[in-house]
Amino acid sequence: MISQGRPDRSGERPHNNLLRRLSDSDFALIAPHLSHDESTSDDLLYDPGDDVDVVHFPCGASLASYLVSNEDGRDVETILVGREGAVGGIVSLGYLPAYTRITVKFGGPFSRLPIAKLDQAKSASASMRNVFARYADCLLAQMFQSTACNAIHSIEQRTAKWIISAMERTDGSNIVPLTHEQLSTLLGVGRSYASRVIQTFKAEGLVETRRGAIVVRDPDGLRLRACQCNESVKNHFEEVLRGVYPSETVP
Ligand SMILES: [Zn+2]
Repeated sequence: MISQGRPDRSGERPHNNLLRRLSDSDFALIAPHLSHDESTSDDLLYDPGDDVDVVHFPCGASLASYLVSNEDGRDVETILVGREGAVGGIVSLGYLPAYTRITVKFGGPFSRLPIAKLDQAKSASASMRNVFARYADCLLAQMFQSTACNAIHSIEQRTAKWIISAMERTDGSNIVPLTHEQLSTLLGVGRSYASRVIQTFKAEGLVETRRGAIVVRDPDGLRLRACQCNESVKNHFEEVLRGVYPSETVP
């Protein structure tokens, strides 16, 4: 069972690996200002142009996603952010307008911090600045990889990659609460195309589908169908922020 975002009575930190990576003294700088609650799937965190005033830390199996709106009205997903990171004002200092739409992909616990409090803590602590600068570097690596992935990898490879990437943030049950609609947004293709890819994976015994979810039956087989983009990003996280990228099983 995945622990909730709310710290328990023993003072355990929220189940967000970035918050857990902070030293005790750095965490103490922001702890009084953190709030903890739940978001549900498709909750809107930021629209383009919104003032970014709160940092959202996904906890447990929660996932947020950055979407870019296109001139034909379609939103295309760029990257997913789970408990390895945070969304909203991570790179910038101070209030700036959001460029992308940020929504909740998988609902669950979130910790939230006013950005002014994070900036104060960064000003007060070089080690705090260091952790967030390293995270910004990892986020940039995810963006670079996503750009390359969209340009050169097949729809099948990308579908397998997204399912594995989402599965790594679940509690190891292999049930990924991803609908065909959500998958088509992740891929930037029509829903019927996304459904065809899933039918192929089903026929190969890699996945099954349930209402509103994909059940991974053969994780190793699915990994063989995926491009290596996830692995590249994970390796960079391991170099830069060891232990922060989620493993499949929740500790
Ligand atoms: Zn790829």
